[in-house]
Amino acid sequence: MAFHCLYSKQKLDMSLPVAVSYRRLRIAVSFLLSFLLASSVTALRSSQAQGPAASPANVTATPARSRLHQALLDLTNSWTVLCVAAHPDDEDGSTLTLLRRKYGVHTVSLFSTYGEGGQNAVGPELYEELGVIRARETMAAAEVQGSEPHFLGLRDFGFSKSAEEAFRVWGEKEALRRMVLQIRQLRPDVIITNHDTTSGHGHHQATGRLILQAFDAAADPKQFPEQLRQVSPWQVQRLFVRAFSGNPTSTPPPQAQPVVTINPNELDPIRGTTYAQQALAALQKHATQGPWPKTIAPNGGRIIRYALVRSAASAQSLPADPKTVLDGLRLPETITSKLQSPTIDNKPLTESLDTRDEVLVALINARKAGAFTAPDEVARLDPQRFHLMSSRLDRALAIAAGVSLTLNLNPGSPGDQLPEGDRESVLVPGMPAQFDVSIANQGDADIEVKRLALRGLTVDRPLDAAEKLLPATDTSRDTRITVPKTMSVSVPSSEHLYDGRLFGEPLVATADLEIEGARFSLVAERRIDVAPAVEIRTLEPSPYVRTPSTRSLPLSLNLTLTNHLSTPFRGLVRINGPNLETGREIALQPLEQQAVKIEVRSALIPSRITSHASQKAATLIASIELPESKDIVTRRPVPTVYADARVPAKLLVGYVPSFDATLKRSLTALGVEARELTIDDVQKGELSNYDTIIIDNRGYEAHPELITANDRLLKYVADGGNLIVFYHKTNEWNPNPDRKRPQLAPYSIIVGDERVTEEDAPIIFLQPHHPLLNFPNKITQADFANWIQERGLYFPKEWDQHYTAVLATNDKGEKPLKGGLLASSYGKGNYIYTSLVWYRELRAGIPGAYRVFANMISYGKSIRK
Ligand SMILES: [Zn+2]
Repeated sequence: MAFHCLYSKQKLDMSLPVAVSYRRLRIAVSFLLSFLLASSVTALRSSQAQGPAASPANVTATPARSRLHQALLDLTNSWTVLCVAAHPDDEDGSTLTLLRRKYGVHTVSLFSTYGEGGQNAVGPELYEELGVIRARETMAAAEVQGSEPHFLGLRDFGFSKSAEEAFRVWGEKEALRRMVLQIRQLRPDVIITNHDTTSGHGHHQATGRLILQAFDAAADPKQFPEQLRQVSPWQVQRLFVRAFSGNPTSTPPPQAQPVVTINPNELDPIRGTTYAQQALAALQKHATQGPWPKTIAPNGGRIIRYALVRSAASAQSLPADPKTVLDGLRLPETITSKLQSPTIDNKPLTESLDTRDEVLVALINARKAGAFTAPDEVARLDPQRFHLMSSRLDRALAIAAGVSLTLNLNPGSPGDQLPEGDRESVLVPGMPAQFDVSIANQGDADIEVKRLALRGLTVDRPLDAAEKLLPATDTSRDTRITVPKTMSVSVPSSEHLYDGRLFGEPLVATADLEIEGARFSLVAERRIDVAPAVEIRTLEPSPYVRTPSTRSLPLSLNLTLTNHLSTPFRGLVRINGPNLETGREIALQPLEQQAVKIEVRSALIPSRITSHASQKAATLIASIELPESKDIVTRRPVPTVYADARVPAKLLVGYVPSFDATLKRSLTALGVEARELTIDDVQKGELSNYDTIIIDNRGYEAHPELITANDRLLKYVADGGNLIVFYHKTNEWNPNPDRKRPQLAPYSIIVGDERVTEEDAPIIFLQPHHPLLNFPNKITQADFANWIQERGLYFPKEWDQHYTAVLATNDKGEKPLKGGLLASSYGKGNYIYTSLVWYRELRAGIPGAYRVFANMISYGKSIRK
């Protein structure tokens, strides 16, 4: 809302003096809305509009002219194109952007998963926490593309090599059911996808297969008939699969398939950038999956080719040299005659962009003449298309008229004043919440307010509003709703990825308005998280791992609590477990966030250990209680793990972390004295004191300065140190003169792209007597049981003969990969490179991983012995 902020800070009543005092401003605003580009808007605003102006950055982000252009362009196109993708960032942003920004196509995207099994290039979050972030990134990318994202909510269990593995986890029928339901709801005319049935990630292949099945199943009333109570069968007209160069698409063979070529390098005259540049800006929103290119290559973005792999019997054929995937498709005449877009002198409204008054008149006339409506017998043929176009006309009217609707949670409501960067606002069960619904009229005409309403939290409530809204005024209505006591919470979001409560409760404000006798509606929708009165925001460490060196130490938990109430909170924080109960009083100021540390002597861990195979000890429960009633406000479980992982006494370990605190926590659990090393420490510090130094996974990528400091690390090894380097990707590790990156290991290691994705893949001990498998912990097959997600990735494919390959492992039907754990002596010291996923297993508290890790950090000592 570029201009909304001009008014929102101050509530205006409708009295004349106020309206007049804003008159000059209004003239500036309506002038700017109609005539000027974003840059000029910024300049004029600062000279003319003193007072509560929006920041220039906001104005540039949503230039009024391109918004109006898009709304008018949207009136000329009633087609829907759906892009199906397995993971966030697999969507074809270039084609989605071009279809919407150039042609006004209704573009939607559908993702099989939230991508929670992927990696995180920018932060410590993995798994469901990563899924939450990637859902947000996807929404931000869609905003740039002008598309509308949807999710199937299938589980992303990490990299997979086959569709079969994906279907084992997803259930093929269940996955198909969800995709068919989405197609029947979204009713796309054309589906596009980057995924064929045989290439790449197993999730991609499985998604490619599901689309082929769903193309037919969505149209077949015998398939999933229970859905027909809610939706109708839907026949997609065409299905296109991306033809990557050198990649065959699925059946039939490529040469038989008509191809659409899409060049995204054309300049968007409205936004002043190419569609490829806009698509790259969208891709960059998927920050966890970066790093992405910063700019489009000088020769332009990649040309995209789509092969037509399925057509409905009713679909018109693709003409020669098609410009888009929609070319040649026609709707029945009975429908198209009712979908005529408004014009001025027989020209599309986009050509009158600079005479906004004329555009507004044309839109008003169109609405009064019943544009995009049809008699029931016609509308019934394709109700969603009429609904789409009618709501697009609503939007165009609102933008051209300068009218906007906003819905906010009011100051003073729970959670409203949390520190910046925190969750903006939450609802608390049993507590009242105050909402503000505002309509602002920044145009030139009077607006009549026919109805204002708020729906959500089990209420559907009409709100009083001014009957008439003069130009340059707004009207605000506050309403208070008590959140039902029984409403279930939606935080932490990571626990609500699959249950439909991701990002909380939906609230919808609607306004039915009239301008010059033309009715139109506005909708403002928000989702707001539901949180307990006091929330346990973080709880660390979890899982709680203990080892022989740390089992008798007091148990120590760090909590971050947030009081979501606008009143002080007094209560208890309590830790319960077998043979364990402790609590302490807490007092939090209104809306305060507080760190709490709890230490307790615990008898959790059995004193006698009977086998190497370690055991899950127990689960602790951390809870917040009310003082007298002992009612529980909230609770979080903390699994505990006992790992029989021993280390020699007085070990000093330095480590360079990459993205999370796993190394720190794991070394703490092992009872090792550990120090985090900065790049400066590596460059200038005294390294010889450390028995072992660890470079975390992708460390040379996370800290490129390490490359120039690498000589010091190698000297540390030559002088007798023990250096452990966790996995790196090929483009982050292999020697590359362009990136000024030499061979980083003392003897050559070249990594490849191979992975072992089956977490229970067999482990072969190539060197059963090697110290890494024997000291201080005797490693057995049991230590490789119960691993999660995968064994390893980017396995070395070539290595110097100085290295000893200790282990081998492979996915079913593939040859063993031997580079997962390589060790070599160098000078007086040792070097270990390992592409097994220690970071995942240590983080998840897998006891065997702690035992092998303990051997790795003890390696120098074991050799010296
Ligand atoms: Zn993917």
